[in-house]
Amino acid sequence: SMASPTLLMRVVASAYSVAEKAATIVRNVMATGDLGIVEKSGANDLQTKADRLVQKSICASLARKFPKVTIIGEEELPPDEVDEELIEDGHCEEILKKTCPAQYTGIKEEELVIWVDPLDGTKEYTEGLLDHVTVLIGIAYGGKAIAGVINQPYYNYEAGANATLGRTIWGVLGLGAFGFQLTEAPAGKHIIVTTRSHSSALVNDCISAMNPDNVIRVGGAGNKIIQLIEGKASAYVYASPGCKKWDTCAPEAILHAVGGKITDIHGNSFQYNKEVKHMNSAGVLATLRNYDYYASRIPSTVKQSLVP
Ligand code: AMP
Ligand code: MG
Ligand code: MG
Repeated sequence: SMASPTLLMRVVASAYSVAEKAATIVRNVMATGDLGIVEKSGANDLQTKADRLVQKSICASLARKFPKVTIIGEEELPPDEVDEELIEDGHCEEILKKTCPAQYTGIKEEELVIWVDPLDGTKEYTEGLLDHVTVLIGIAYGGKAIAGVINQPYYNYEAGANATLGRTIWGVLGLGAFGFQLTEAPAGKHIIVTTRSHSSALVNDCISAMNPDNVIRVGGAGNKIIQLIEGKASAYVYASPGCKKWDTCAPEAILHAVGGKITDIHGNSFQYNKEVKHMNSAGVLATLRNYDYYASRIPSTVKQSLVP
């Protein structure tokens, strides 16, 4: 008989459906035309009604099913009752049919930390750059990102009415990643993907030192990891503080599941235990291949400016 699914696979299967519900909320808020924009630390750090509703939906839905899991969301919200309409109780059957990697079969609820970015690329969402937006649910165990779900609510939105709108990418370390076609970036080219709304002299100095053939400036950490795994870019380079643990957890799990690598600018891996500092103060360097080339090109002046 089939063994019953492990906790980890049940969490991933639920996160998949919760992320699809989130995508519906993201599209519905945009369709109303009333984004309810609030500035957090400033004009380049925004929160919309979609960020708020999606965080409530994801956190309440997962907490109801997995009450002992620690869930950390980006947005600071008053502890209101969550409308039942926001609760998703479904799961993805296909995920439950996959075999959990042996090293994760014994995980207990108390040992998981879920990092939630309800809407990554908010600035771009408010500017109508809709395919930059993702919903990120990252799952950590022992301080490591081990599984993740990235939903892209507006995938295909410019592909015409016959194309299916939106997609969900998911992955588990030791099992692989699904929901997209793994593609290599053009051989021998240095195509850098970086921020579009949080640039600085340091960010640009670091990129210049990599001898880039092309620089792609797009919003969202989730979106930039998608550029790597689909072969659009060869490295994600961001020599600046600003990215947080909820930005990198799900992308990291998916990138690592397909053999890529993500660290800070010094080469330190990110930690995801619940006590960790949220800010990735020393930036981000991520690649699917050739990590060492990009790491070796980071100027020491850039490294000295970014304290972990
Ligand atoms: P970006 O590449 O600029 O879209 O940033 C990726 C993620 O990190 C997004 O969630 C941003 O909001 C966040 N982020 C990066 N830099 C900053 C910053 N300087 N201030 C606020 N958020 C930032
Ligand atoms: Mg984000
Ligand atoms: Mg966000």
